[in-house]
Amino acid sequence: MMKYQHSFYDQSACSLLPGKIVCVGRNYLDHIKELNNPVPSEPILFIKPSTSLQSISDEILVPDYSNNCHHEVELSVLIGQELCRATVEEVEPAIVGYGIALDLTLRDVQEKLKAQGKPWERAKAFDGSCPLSPFVSKEVFPDPQDIELELKVNGESRQQGNSQLMMTKVLDLIAHISQFFTLLPGDVVLTGTPAGVSRLQSGDQVELILGKKYQYQTVVK
Ligand code: ZN
Repeated sequence: MMKYQHSFYDQSACSLLPGKIVCVGRNYLDHIKELNNPVPSEPILFIKPSTSLQSISDEILVPDYSNNCHHEVELSVLIGQELCRATVEEVEPAIVGYGIALDLTLRDVQEKLKAQGKPWERAKAFDGSCPLSPFVSKEVFPDPQDIELELKVNGESRQQGNSQLMMTKVLDLIAHISQFFTLLPGDVVLTGTPAGVSRLQSGDQVELILGKKYQYQTVVK
């Protein structure tokens, strides 16, 4: 039985069953530069399975095959209606809400896989690799391209960004994703991370702040 259930900030439950999580790599220029990656000509997409989901308040467990688990703080989007080869205009009505998420990434494992031309799943799609906050209904954020994200580790700010710095905007990104992968109610889209990714260590206290208002905390085991 799945232990993760979608929830809303102002209500405890959500009727949408957790589905897949579609993510985009390299969507903020400052983050591309910090990892010396080339600027992509179109969004780099990958998928995390529903088994990667956990609640933001659950302890972060780093798999024993990695020594370098990075935090990537990201704006998350909960989808409430099916989107298949959607136009940009069709995307907004299908969005239910926004949240803040971690795209946990085993950077050492990912580097090795990338160098060998192999897929990234072991580095990004492992159990618990996608902690999600409760979602805030979309009316709270009328402009998805003006949402502040911040991540602090042990009280120190590590990542700070605003969705206005995204290279592919939220609605365009979701329309693009739906050309390849049908999005179903309960699916989640992660929209990329701003600069400042770094290694998490055992005992770290992690704080995530969405829109300067919604704060969540977790800890690394
Ligand atoms: Zn990411």
